[in-house]
Amino acid sequence: MTGRVHSIETLGALDGPGLRVVVFLQGCPLRCLYCHNPDTWDRRGGQEWDAAAVVDRVLRSRPYFSQGGGVTLSGGEPLAQARFAAEILRRCREAEIHTALDTAGAALTSDVRRALEFTDLVLLDVKHADEARYRALTGGELATTLAFLRHVDERGIDLWVRQVIVPGWNDLPDDLRRLADLLRPLRTLRKVELLPYHAMAGVKYATMGLACPLEGLAPPDEAAMARCRAILAALLARPVD
Ligand code: SF4
Repeated sequence: MTGRVHSIETLGALDGPGLRVVVFLQGCPLRCLYCHNPDTWDRRGGQEWDAAAVVDRVLRSRPYFSQGGGVTLSGGEPLAQARFAAEILRRCREAEIHTALDTAGAALTSDVRRALEFTDLVLLDVKHADEARYRALTGGELATTLAFLRHVDERGIDLWVRQVIVPGWNDLPDDLRRLADLLRPLRTLRKVELLPYHAMAGVKYATMGLACPLEGLAPPDEAAMARCRAILAALLARPVD
């Protein structure tokens, strides 16, 4: 089975436990205002790869996986090519490689459910916990992400939740309270991370002839991030990275 791959990065340390091969799949149905990777949006972009060839590339790094590493499918939105994602994950599982899916949870089709059958860890960017603000920030529906989260939880798949803190969008105490309410019932939640928005994608937008939606917005400073983490940690009664 073939699909479109944007790029493959070896030995990343941020997208799951240990050292990982990160496979960025092409295509995304969302249009987050803070997206760093607008070049991943188009399903027709990137290069065509066979799932077996992707897994061969992953297996070359197997010696580095001894400390709990593995493969992470990212994007774009890897579930925009859910069948292809499922096939890569199935083959990695067969090869006893730890599998992670870095997703916005923007779909819950039968192909997505199948991809989750072979997923050990979901890394989910919740983006915003208020429906109207989620739609304004991403162009998508929060209800879909919530259904996806419930499904992951019901299946008992380990979950790391991330949120990119975008000043003026999701950094107020009320925003964090909504996020805490959404996360509290999740039984398989293992880690919560808040990441600062950063304005580094301007050149990519310019190259693509697109206006950068948050042009001129300053990233949150360390003190602002520390404040958000402290509020959320207190609300959840657990550490927030
Ligand atoms: S889900 Fe990710 S790739 Fe898609 S628009 Fe949002 S930030 Fe960009």
